[in-house]
Amino acid sequence: MSRIAYVNGRYLPVRQAQIAIEDRGFQFADGVYEVFPVYAGHIVNHAWHLQRLSQSLAALRIDWPLPPAVLTLILKDMLRRNRIIDGGMLYLQITRGVSPRNHAFPVPGVRPTLVVTARPVDMAARHAQAEIGVRVISVPENRWTRRDIKSVSLLANILAKQGAAERGAAEALFVNDRGILTEGASSTFWMITREGVLTTHPLGHDILPGVTRRAILAMAPELGLQTDEREFSLAETLQAREAFLTSATNFVMPVIQIDAQIIGNGKPGAISLALRKSYIERIE
Ligand code: PLP
Repeated sequence: MSRIAYVNGRYLPVRQAQIAIEDRGFQFADGVYEVFPVYAGHIVNHAWHLQRLSQSLAALRIDWPLPPAVLTLILKDMLRRNRIIDGGMLYLQITRGVSPRNHAFPVPGVRPTLVVTARPVDMAARHAQAEIGVRVISVPENRWTRRDIKSVSLLANILAKQGAAERGAAEALFVNDRGILTEGASSTFWMITREGVLTTHPLGHDILPGVTRRAILAMAPELGLQTDEREFSLAETLQAREAFLTSATNFVMPVIQIDAQIIGNGKPGAISLALRKSYIERIE
């Protein structure tokens, strides 16, 4: 079965789907995106993903191509057309549209480009990975200063992730020039202090406001866990009791090693695994 993409009002096999070469997403990375996770056939944290999309669009002054309710219908249609019945992800991208190349915004009236793709995710493999945990590396923070916008301009993230892959690691953690660990190339980073406090970088321009981050912060007190949104250094992290990553399709992924340093006893921590279990129960 061929995968189906949605492009500006049309559903097409992915290989036939096209956008114009003067699309500003292609020429300038002038656009935003969202990843909607799908679990047990349903879109997870759907309203929060739409809310973040709204913030990203507003920050770049790009209009909604369609009302959010219509976008939701398209997302659901895409699940059906791509036969995603269990785990998967929907990728939605909106760019400022097609116009002769010129840095400043095009004249009013240019319609934003809307693309949606879908694909299944092997959830069993991710569950198995979580039982083992992942190794990560640290890299210098070299991204622009508006990381809160989910922009398709991801060069620094791509290079960081490739660096991680070449060193056999699953993720790269950005560390700024003050030694502060901000987040992963495609995930929110968390450490659990020796006192058992779930700690993550505060919101602001320095990190993407992760939707899974938001869900974990909302859930933690119900599990009797204390949370703290504050800056912390890589050095402090290396002494942590546990560490984990969160993202839309990985949920909670325990971290067992950062660079050469083993975290805890080198196995996924009990709190991290309990959080993962609880999160999955909730989204089910
Ligand atoms: N930070 C960055 C840079 C990301 O790209 C992502 C997800 O792709 C996240 C954090 C986690 O966000 P979410 O939990 O919404 O997937």
